[in-house]
Amino acid sequence: MHSYTLIAPAKINLHLEILGDRPDGYHELVMILQSIDLVDKIELRPNGTEQIRLHCNNPQVPLDASNLAYRAVEVMRGEFPKIAANYGGVDIFIDKKIPVAAGLAGGSTNGAAVLVGINLMWELGLTVPELQTLGAKLGSDVPFCISGGTAIATGRGEQLDPIVDLDNLWVVLAKYRSLSISTAWAYKTYKQKFGSSYISDSEGVKSRTAQVHSGSLVSAIAHKDGASIGKLLYNDLEKVVLPAFPQVAQLREAFQEVGCLGTMMSGSGPTVFALCESSDRAEIVRVKVRETIPDPDLEFWVAQLSSAGIEVTSFSK
Ligand code: ATP
Repeated sequence: MHSYTLIAPAKINLHLEILGDRPDGYHELVMILQSIDLVDKIELRPNGTEQIRLHCNNPQVPLDASNLAYRAVEVMRGEFPKIAANYGGVDIFIDKKIPVAAGLAGGSTNGAAVLVGINLMWELGLTVPELQTLGAKLGSDVPFCISGGTAIATGRGEQLDPIVDLDNLWVVLAKYRSLSISTAWAYKTYKQKFGSSYISDSEGVKSRTAQVHSGSLVSAIAHKDGASIGKLLYNDLEKVVLPAFPQVAQLREAFQEVGCLGTMMSGSGPTVFALCESSDRAEIVRVKVRETIPDPDLEFWVAQLSSAGIEVTSFSK
């Protein structure tokens, strides 16, 4: 049996709009998701036992059944019990570079990598759409993390419509190390504040989704027009996170002032990103914001937008 090493990219949201409630308890969303080349490395090794054992270099990451990498193996075991019994347990090594609870889908992309890796290890032959259907059971961002690139995501985020991949732009990401925001808190607070403005019928949802499909941001992406993309970034969750966490609002302002193409919080935050036309420009923006906010608790990353989803980098006997 082989061991597999996979690369699992983070994502940012170029657009995140909350349309309404869903009967299943999730929110009806329309988003534009974008992979970046800030990645975790996941290694899967058959361990000759029945157990799923997790190892991670970041102590913030849970090593029990709450880890999405662990749950991904359980989903596969549930779907293919006989095959799973033949293959036994697995050791999962997570080399974590993506900050945790940061709005960058760090857990979802690990779960996506394990689905792709187990598909190979157990020789299941599942297609990408089949893996994405299983991924939706793990989490709303998992189907996107499997295929990556640039995509419009609707429903609770699991229905994907790939669009032109962006790769000609860079981002500076910044996050306060000690600050994490729970996705559940952000959506709950949004509902408390703005629930009365939700679209309540499926025709309304369809029509707003169609507007985003044919809208200016998708057109700017089609033309790889960084200046327009920067101006059109949008995230509803900023309306609740920025007032509650002034340091995130201040970071956002600092990026705005140093002159990037545009800046926005990713997902439910607290990571803020600044879009830049080149890696040199991104580096200048990083240095300037570091000078404006010298707090050592603030961490930075520079990454390129990427067309890659989960990729297998090596396998060995
Ligand atoms: P999203 O953008 O999908 O909402 P996020 O980037 O905000 O996710 P994650 O990094 O996925 O957040 O972490 C959210 C929580 O998920 C963490 O606090 C952690 O307890 C849990 N978690 C489960 N599996 C993982 C994993 N493999 N890596 C990181 N966190 C994980």
